[in-house]
Amino acid sequence: MEDIYQKRVLNQFASDNYAGICPEALQAMQDANAGFVSSYGDDIWTERACQHLRQVFETECQVFFVFNGTAANSLALASLCRSYHSVVCHELAHVETDECGAPEFFSNGTKLLHVNGQGGKLDLGEVERTITRRSDIHYPRPKVLSLTQATEVGTVYTPDEIRATSELAKRYGMRVHMDGARFANAVVSLDVAPAEVTWRAGVDVLCLGGAKNGMAIGEAVVFFDRELANEFDYRCKQAGQLASKMRFISAPWIGMLEGGAWLRNARHANACAAMLEQHLAVINGVRIMYPRQANSVFVEMPEAVAATLRTAGWNFYSFIGSGGARFMCSWQTTEHDVLQLVEAVQAAVASSSLFD
Ligand SMILES: *Cc1c(COP(=O)(O)O)cnc(C)c1O
Repeated sequence: MEDIYQKRVLNQFASDNYAGICPEALQAMQDANAGFVSSYGDDIWTERACQHLRQVFETECQVFFVFNGTAANSLALASLCRSYHSVVCHELAHVETDECGAPEFFSNGTKLLHVNGQGGKLDLGEVERTITRRSDIHYPRPKVLSLTQATEVGTVYTPDEIRATSELAKRYGMRVHMDGARFANAVVSLDVAPAEVTWRAGVDVLCLGGAKNGMAIGEAVVFFDRELANEFDYRCKQAGQLASKMRFISAPWIGMLEGGAWLRNARHANACAAMLEQHLAVINGVRIMYPRQANSVFVEMPEAVAATLRTAGWNFYSFIGSGGARFMCSWQTTEHDVLQLVEAVQAAVASSSLFD
């Protein structure tokens, strides 16, 4: 047989979704594979996964499992809005820049209004100006405030910041949506209970990431205000997001939550990024762009250095956020990987300065 390991992407810091399935999630899929089980989520695995999420969030939330984050965000936002409403989000928000218009598509025209803000976080003054700029019938009516936790540039909103954001939203009769593709990384970074940075801080709906945290596939849409979940099951089905063999999307959540793998994975990824940041920060010509608070490190470095790294086979993104290179760590990243990358950057800097 062909050695497929030859085809592995080595030297990878592009994204946490390059990583494989963590053992706990894989084992749960295996466990769920025993014989016949009823379909479309009417099964014991899905029920147990929902129960686990209710325990984690310490509330009777309503939970739905969908295939990916784009679907989770888009359908959640669509369920909070009418077509003439608008969603206020950060200009770097995934819903704005990386979902190909899906939130607008699924909500039949709801407009995203983007605002800026330091470090990937919403500037509340800007948010308020956007909400109050107009109140006439010609302006799409602001209905939802969307924030990303951890943010697109690897920073983390504190509980106080989330509370202040929600209070502003509620003052204007708006709902709060949280894109939590990397929610676990934020939770371990803050060392808080998940409830403290969600419903207790005013979040109405959380799109909770599974794939980047170590699962094969799937995100959970968690409604803390159960009223808002009304008919969400129909929305999922219509959008092609109701898995017929639902247990294989839901059971891995049990594996992730039961023994705390979701937090362990996130803690590990964050620690790898912290180590990377520490080493990169002292290299001449390399500048850390944002405070590293989750599992990514954004750096500015000479184009020649980035090119040398790519030629040497290192994978990283440079289109996320506001330029620079993004190095993303996952549950599968090792200390050895981090040190190898550091060495490669040092070597690339040394060779580029030969030609200065
Ligand atoms: C990865 C990611 C998502 C989900 O993306 P999908 O590819 O649709 O699963 C959502 N929000 C953020 C901030 C992300 O990084």
